[in-house]
Parts: sequence; C-alpha cells; structure tokens
Amino acid sequence: MSFVPPDTKCIAEALGDVSKLPRDMQMAVTNKLSESFQSIPEPHGCDWLAVNEEMGQTMKSFEQMAYKAVPRATFKTIYIQPVGSFDHPRAGPLEIIIEFARAFFSGCQVELLPKINFSKDMISRMLYGRIQYRTDSFFDYLSRTRHKRNIMRELVCVAITMADIYPEDSWNFVYGQAHPIKSLGVYSFARLDPLFLSSQKKVMTSQFTDEHRIIMLRRCVSTLLHELGHLFGLLHCIYYVCLMNGANHEIEMDGQPVYLCPVCLRKLYSTFRFSVQIVYEKFANLCETYGLEEECVWYRKRLDCIKEQ
Ligand SMILES: [Zn+2]
Ligand SMILES: [Zn+2]
Repeated sequence: MSFVPPDTKCIAEALGDVSKLPRDMQMAVTNKLSESFQSIPEPHGCDWLAVNEEMGQTMKSFEQMAYKAVPRATFKTIYIQPVGSFDHPRAGPLEIIIEFARAFFSGCQVELLPKINFSKDMISRMLYGRIQYRTDSFFDYLSRTRHKRNIMRELVCVAITMADIYPEDSWNFVYGQAHPIKSLGVYSFARLDPLFLSSQKKVMTSQFTDEHRIIMLRRCVSTLLHELGHLFGLLHCIYYVCLMNGANHEIEMDGQPVYLCPVCLRKLYSTFRFSVQIVYEKFANLCETYGLEEECVWYRKRLDCIKEQ
C-alpha cells in the first residue's frame, strides 16, 4: 500500500463547485496567489498515511454522511466535561483551549462543565507504572449523566482528561476516541505534554519552559479541534497539509497546521455558515495573545487574501 498524493484535478473535484458560496468564502477556499496550502508530503516509516489506507472525503461524500452532528433549533452547545485534575502546572490550560474552540466553531456555544473526579466504577489498569482509564467508562458516564446537562441544548459532549486512556486491553493507549452515533467523545491530553515520557522520573516543574507551554497549548487546541471536527462529520484529509490529517505520533502531529484546508473548510462552512473573516480574525487574535506566532501569521495572511476580493 502506498499513498499517491491527489493531483489538482482530484482536489478540485473534492472541493466541488464553489461559485454559489459567498465571495469571502470563495476567496478563503482558493489557493491561488498566496499558495497558503501545501501539498501532502510523501509519508515515511510509521506516518499515518504510510500505514493507514485513507480514501479521502469529498465535499459530496461529506454531505451524504449519515452520522454527523449538525446544529439545529436549540441544539447548539458543545459541552466539554473535564475529568480528573487539571491543576498540575503542566496540564492543558482548559479556559484558553476553550476560547480557541469557541472561535473556531462559531455558531455554536462551547460550555465548560464543572470538573468531576474519576469514580470507582470507571474501568482502569496499571501499565508501566501509570494508571490508565478505559474509554468506554467515559462514554458510560457521559450517557448516564446526560439528564444533568441541558438536553435541549446539547449538540455534542466530550470528556477531556490529563489521565492516560486506552480503548481495549490489547492497545497500549489511545489519544482519543469518538462515538459519532451518540455524539460523544473522549480525549486525553496526557501524551501531548512534551515531558510526558520523562514524567515517570518526577520532572521538576521548573523544567517545563515557556516553549513547552506553547507546544502543549498548540497540541491541545489542535487535538480538540480535530476531534470535534470528526464529530461534525469530517473524515481524515488527504488533499493538503491540514488540521484534519491523521497523525500517528507527536512529530507528525507537530507538523500539522491549526487550520483547515479549502476542502475541509468548505465542509465546516456548510454546517455552520460562519463569517470566515470573523472566525479568522478571532482566531488570529487568540494566536497572538497566547504565543502561537506561526499560526497568527498564517491567519492574518489569509485574511489579507480574503479582503482583496
Ligand atoms: Zn482523526
Ligand atoms: Zn483538509
């Protein structure tokens, strides 16, 4: 199995006819002039596309997806349920991550629920001296407690945790898992910590530098947006370097951008009908405030392209 990057004709077909989109969206999904979107590099070793066969998802096939969350009437809230402690200095900064999700999924409310602790009935195990929780325990909890949330507002609900998680006994770990039929997900930020592998050796907090903090923030934001993207029906992208590319390891994850390619942006737009200028402006401002410099430059450059209409 070897991945063949799609040619321009294939990409144009995946994007579909954009002539009826608003002018700013037409500009946002064009790669002409700025060359802001890069081709997918050839995968190597255990890169995602080297070991997973991905067919790609065109705009047309996205529209035909049976299981995807679509905001309607009052059902417009993305609930985020933190599980376990986030008080550690190396934990993902919840409030900041949520601000990015609010900007990205404009048209939805994003609500951070009060933290809960792990309960004794959650299935766990010890692996290499580290406690891990099984993902179905989170799904059980989120299903069981649905009545405690506002069911007239709930669009999707996802648990996030700093604990390590696993989907079944034969797996060592998983970064996250989605349950599209139930509109639920669970994601662990544990392995996004740049010092995760050293954490067994009791890393001093002072060793966690500002650079680590920015890597951690960037990984947490991109993981949450990518995984929520799956719940909204976006499959892995094979058209460009994109937030929705699959990733097998941290190096691949760090090489991926915190933005959607034209094909994926159009899919998200068809669901949320946002103003791309407002979304990009909010996102660029957040990137600037919290030190995601490269991302800030990218969003501002795209805004310039969009405004040149
Ligand atoms: Zn994915
Ligand atoms: Zn994409």
